[in-house]
Amino acid sequence: MTSEINLERIFKAINFATRKHHGQVRKDQRGSPYVTHPIAVANAIWGLGKVSNDLTLISAILHDTLEDTDTQESEIEELFGEEVLSVVLEVSDDKSQEKMERKRQQVIHAPHLSQAARLIKLSDKLVNCRDILQSPPKNWPIARRREYIQWAADVVAEIRGTNDALENAFDQMLRDAEEQLEFTIKPFRSVNLRPWGPNPEPSTHQEE
Ligand code: NDP
Ligand code: ZN
Repeated sequence: MTSEINLERIFKAINFATRKHHGQVRKDQRGSPYVTHPIAVANAIWGLGKVSNDLTLISAILHDTLEDTDTQESEIEELFGEEVLSVVLEVSDDKSQEKMERKRQQVIHAPHLSQAARLIKLSDKLVNCRDILQSPPKNWPIARRREYIQWAADVVAEIRGTNDALENAFDQMLRDAEEQLEFTIKPFRSVNLRPWGPNPEPSTHQEE
């Protein structure tokens, strides 16, 4: 997936995301400006994944605007076009759903995502999990940090084969997480024993 980067559109997206996320902060101790996150997600796709595709990078910069700001779909369509809107919609949760249902929906939808949406999903999980290791949300106990990283591993398991460099970086992050948080990532085959499993079944088996 390569093409010339249209820097004008990239900066337009950064300006738009900066304006829309104005006043919002991340959950880390320092309360970093929110827009640092979508920029980090786009940067990892470009710098680590070596993907220089406009549609992917612009959608990555905008990936949390629909979900977390007052941005209307029509604004994205008018400013960035219907293709970008379509990718941003693919990576936006349905906020009318409960949090655990949203987690389940991400596992269910992952295999059906477009290539651009898969790259964003992969990079978003990588960046969030690295943040959880390096600058975790305030007041998150270790169990919650482990749980988030396990869920991210389950979502990423469904989109393997998207980008080797991003997946290798994600795997390295998983090894760091296992060491730092003293736990073992469970394989995807046991996903239905977890709260976000797509087909939860009562089971008498012990999870591996
Ligand atoms: P949240 O959805 O509340 O927070 C995670 C999200 O916050 C990330 O996906 C990311 O989203 C954003 N974020 C902002 N700042 C940071 C940061 N510094 N590091 C990482 N992520 C950041 O939490 P959960 O995903 O855990 O969802 C809540 C669920 O957790 C509930 O279903 C509840 O049942 C469960 N829970 C578990 C507890 C436990 O101890 N195990 C305790 C309480 C709840 P984005 O990329 O969109 O910005
Ligand atoms: Zn995000």
